[in-house]
Amino acid sequence: MDSATGRSDIALSVTDVVKSYGPNKALDGVTITVRRGEFVALLGPNGAGKSTLFQLLSGLFTPDGGAIEVAGFDIRKNAVPALSSLGIVFQAPTLDQELSVLANLRFHTDLHGILPRVAKERIASELAAVGLTERQHDPVRNLSGGNKRRVELARALLHEPTILLMDEPTVGLDPRSRREILTHVLNLKRERRIAVLWATHLVDEAEESDRVVVMRNGKVLTSGTSADLRRDVGTKTLSEAFLKLTGGGQTTEAA
Ligand code: ADP
Repeated sequence: MDSATGRSDIALSVTDVVKSYGPNKALDGVTITVRRGEFVALLGPNGAGKSTLFQLLSGLFTPDGGAIEVAGFDIRKNAVPALSSLGIVFQAPTLDQELSVLANLRFHTDLHGILPRVAKERIASELAAVGLTERQHDPVRNLSGGNKRRVELARALLHEPTILLMDEPTVGLDPRSRREILTHVLNLKRERRIAVLWATHLVDEAEESDRVVVMRNGKVLTSGTSADLRRDVGTKTLSEAFLKLTGGGQTTEAA
């Protein structure tokens, strides 16, 4: 148990989750655990089921079978505390392009019922952390892709989630922005003990995780540290291990 909260040390528990689209089983008995303060990379080629899993985790859909708990709360029976323990950055941008950065963030704190004084402090602090204080009054549409992603990350943290869900968060970004976002999230993990589930098809983004979960065709193939995976599969690099595990799917090094 976590002494600070009295709750379990498990930030996210996915147990035997099944989800089908018609006859197509997108998730076929997926079990994944993420502990508080742990950075887990969910690595799989396109079509592995990563986005489907994230849609279930964020409460957009319900699984056909299995159970999901966030910070010890069942996502179906205790949806409000479960969902408010999640911070989510989706692959597709979800900011209102016409509103200012600040208005987008305020909208989120209002949705979460955070008191205005607290909201003001948190917004200032998260904007400073991503280096966007100066841009707070700009409409989102004027920001670069990298800065938009930084705003999404700042927003995901405003309600102080137990776990951050990052669904391929660096898609479409230049190498420098990708690196900065990854570094920021690794720091959040270390400094605030936030758990992270980071879905990607890029091996280099998984290298610095505490644990890698490899998915393919709706199933978890294996899970372990990068060193575990290299040893178990008998390869020198994580990239080679993935290619072997996933049969040369679309899992790749970043360009
Ligand atoms: P990933 O995010 O790893 O690329 P997805 O979760 O998008 O994987 O896809 C998993 C499987 O589910 C794939 O076979 C995909 O074609 C299928 N799928 C995903 N979304 C839908 C949908 N809305 N309708 C039907 N099939 C879908």
